[in-house]
Amino acid sequence: MADPAECTIKVMCRFRPLNNSEVVRGDKYIPKFQGEENVIIGRALISGVSQVTQVLLVNILSLPLLLQGKPYMFDRVFQSNTTQEQVYNACAQKIVKDVLEGYNGTIFAYGQTSSGKTHTMEGNLHDTDAMGIIPRIVQDIFNYIYSMDENLEFHIKVSYFEIYLDKIRDLLDVSKTNLSVHEDKNRVPYVKGCTERFVCSPDEVMDTIDEGKSNRHVAVTNMNEHSSRSHSIFLINVSKTGAEGAVLDEAKNINKSLSSLGNVISALAEGSGYIPYRDSKMTRILQDSLGGNCRTTIVICCSPSSYNEAETKSTLMFGQRAK
Ligand code: ADP
Repeated sequence: MADPAECTIKVMCRFRPLNNSEVVRGDKYIPKFQGEENVIIGRALISGVSQVTQVLLVNILSLPLLLQGKPYMFDRVFQSNTTQEQVYNACAQKIVKDVLEGYNGTIFAYGQTSSGKTHTMEGNLHDTDAMGIIPRIVQDIFNYIYSMDENLEFHIKVSYFEIYLDKIRDLLDVSKTNLSVHEDKNRVPYVKGCTERFVCSPDEVMDTIDEGKSNRHVAVTNMNEHSSRSHSIFLINVSKTGAEGAVLDEAKNINKSLSSLGNVISALAEGSGYIPYRDSKMTRILQDSLGGNCRTTIVICCSPSSYNEAETKSTLMFGQRAK
């Protein structure tokens, strides 16, 4: 097994395809991919030059500096035609295995509205090809359990909540609208009073997600405004009894990656500006997943459209900060 004190953080980047309205509007597809780890944003000079200068273009094209943009480097960059299965295999499969050995795993998606976060994390919950990371994780966890010794007993419980304007709302019980973060006796933060649903099959988990999603929509008047400023968190807790299990609590250490990732998530939670690590609910909830024995993947989701160029650049910068 890898060093339990080691905390690995991987930052991946995924571009969705241009959608119909972007094509109709005449938007350009702006990312240029270099190998599996680099993406360049910044229009090729060709697109910035008007028809009149066609002749000049030929010369410009032969210059080495064809692209104005700078490269952004990630652990992996996914082009727009990457399948859900490929994204899962690269981003999450290994984390599931580590979680079943006792690590804390966290996967989160970051990006502007309509950049593909929901598609990446959830996708179509009920379609084998189109399902995203969460349903695939759930299936893998259950497959693992079904393959284990019958003397082992597993308890799987899930919670689903969202943070909006630093208030935590339970998506499995809409009467709970302002939950607080407490620490257990091991000083691990948790959301007090949040519904924990015991589940026995992948279908039960999908039903729970559907229920939470419908609650997310119910209490909201402006879904667009809401979805661009709220953060939803789906927690899966796997407890194994009847065997020794890898208990890695001893191995907690605060790794230097933590502070930079903490900054990223703080900024994520609050929109912008510097927020002290301990004061943000998002960072407190994820603290245990980020500080020691963690396996974290951040998926930076981007629109490929020239229309979103500025936002895409800032999203990519964000991802670089976490590395
Ligand atoms: P977000 O959650 O970031 O607001 P969505 O995941 O809802 O964005 O994506 C916006 C739209 O783009 C959805 O209709 C989704 O199905 C589509 N989409 C996103 N990513 C992809 C992709 N990689 N391939 C095909 N369609 C995608």
